[in-house]
Amino acid sequence: MPEQQVNLSLQERITVVSIDFDYKILGEIGTNCYLLYNKDNREAVLIDPADEAKVIKEMIASKNCTLKAILLTHGHYDHIGAAAEISKATKAPIYAGEYEKEVLANPDINLSAMMAEHPIRLIADKWLADGEVIEIGGMAIRCIHTPGHTEGGMSYYVENANILFSGDTLFAASVGRTDFPTGSMSELVRSIKSKLLILPENTKVFTGHGESTSIIYEKQYNPFLS
Ligand SMILES: [Zn+2]
Repeated sequence: MPEQQVNLSLQERITVVSIDFDYKILGEIGTNCYLLYNKDNREAVLIDPADEAKVIKEMIASKNCTLKAILLTHGHYDHIGAAAEISKATKAPIYAGEYEKEVLANPDINLSAMMAEHPIRLIADKWLADGEVIEIGGMAIRCIHTPGHTEGGMSYYVENANILFSGDTLFAASVGRTDFPTGSMSELVRSIKSKLLILPENTKVFTGHGESTSIIYEKQYNPFLS
């Protein structure tokens, strides 16, 4: 992945550094798990520890990173399968949207009761509010509440790297399913239009499944948003 750098103000240069990331496609239905890290101090954030904790640990080790936080885009079983194990192994706290508590805690709602090997009940260490900016390892990450796929879904925007992690809210030329508990198509489309498509058009979008995309591409070609 090429180095992500932009022109920064002097104030930003004090704390913001070069950011890079790696990812793995994990689990039975192929969920993207991202490791975002500060190249200067090797402090990292893991987004959606989907499954296969061993592979995630190897990814973190291969980048010589220290994991400082685990961010969940939402609570579906295929995004959280290795969260507890990775958190325990690294001592990194788990962050999730404040309206996602029930999804995370209830195996019927997070679909693990039906789909996973074991039911998953998860409680985050920190609950995130819409618009909150968290600073981890010198990286500033804005939490954008994007309900619709689930009620407490969060997208994570790294302004200084010009990237968005959209979970299962926005996909390349598609959107997430809304037929699961707490889902709503009208809310999903409203979230995307009012909160994601307003980001700079050259923002790269890294999704929960499948290929990455960009805000300008989705504005022009996403058939669910026209
Ligand atoms: Zn999902």
